[in-house]
Amino acid sequence: MKVDFVAIGAHPDDVELSAAGTLMKEIEQGKTVALIDLTEGELGSRGTIETRYEEAAAASKIMGVTDRVNLNLGDGFFDLSQENKIKIIEQIRYYQPEVVFVNAKSDRHPDHGRGAQLAKEACFLSGLVKIETSYEGAPQKPWRPKIVLGYIQDRYLEPNFVVDITAQVPKKIEAILAYKTQFYNPDAEGPQTPISGEDFIDFLKGRWAGFGRSIGVDYAEGFTVDRTIGIKTISDII
Ligand SMILES: [Zn+2]
Repeated sequence: MKVDFVAIGAHPDDVELSAAGTLMKEIEQGKTVALIDLTEGELGSRGTIETRYEEAAAASKIMGVTDRVNLNLGDGFFDLSQENKIKIIEQIRYYQPEVVFVNAKSDRHPDHGRGAQLAKEACFLSGLVKIETSYEGAPQKPWRPKIVLGYIQDRYLEPNFVVDITAQVPKKIEAILAYKTQFYNPDAEGPQTPISGEDFIDFLKGRWAGFGRSIGVDYAEGFTVDRTIGIKTISDII
């Protein structure tokens, strides 16, 4: 199944929090997006594995993504093993994305930086012809995305570029709040966490407003890149 973009997150909800506006904007333009969750988020303080799957499905529907898969590599403890890289390579070769989004390269939660590293290495290795993988018994062809973009999460990182998501913010918040056990929900049970209060939504909007201000729009999402990115024309710059 070929898609235009793949967004990978260590936990279900990482992509919604940090790149959903940009992805929904692309979907509105007719592009296709698949999401890969590396873990089930089973160590989260609130909710269960089952509720997390239901919430992820609800968020996917709001965002309009084409497909979503969970690799269940183990919340908190997945490593940069060959086995884990192969699992991601199989997905990259299956979806054949032009662009891959990955976690923040360094963040408060150690899974984020490690998840970014794992995904980035897999994207490179996926292009090597001598690494053999198969899907449903058929050999897969090598595939390397054009570029890997890191989204920005809890800790502030200086973005290399930002995307105007002003029009997508209401739907983005809807996708985030689909995680009813994780984020602000007066009816939720369980302990309060650093992300379960109403103030967390204010924090997120403040972050998007800060990135937006840097380009003269209300809200934006920021991204980091390891390589230089090209633009087609100077007129594309806002
Ligand atoms: Zn996370």
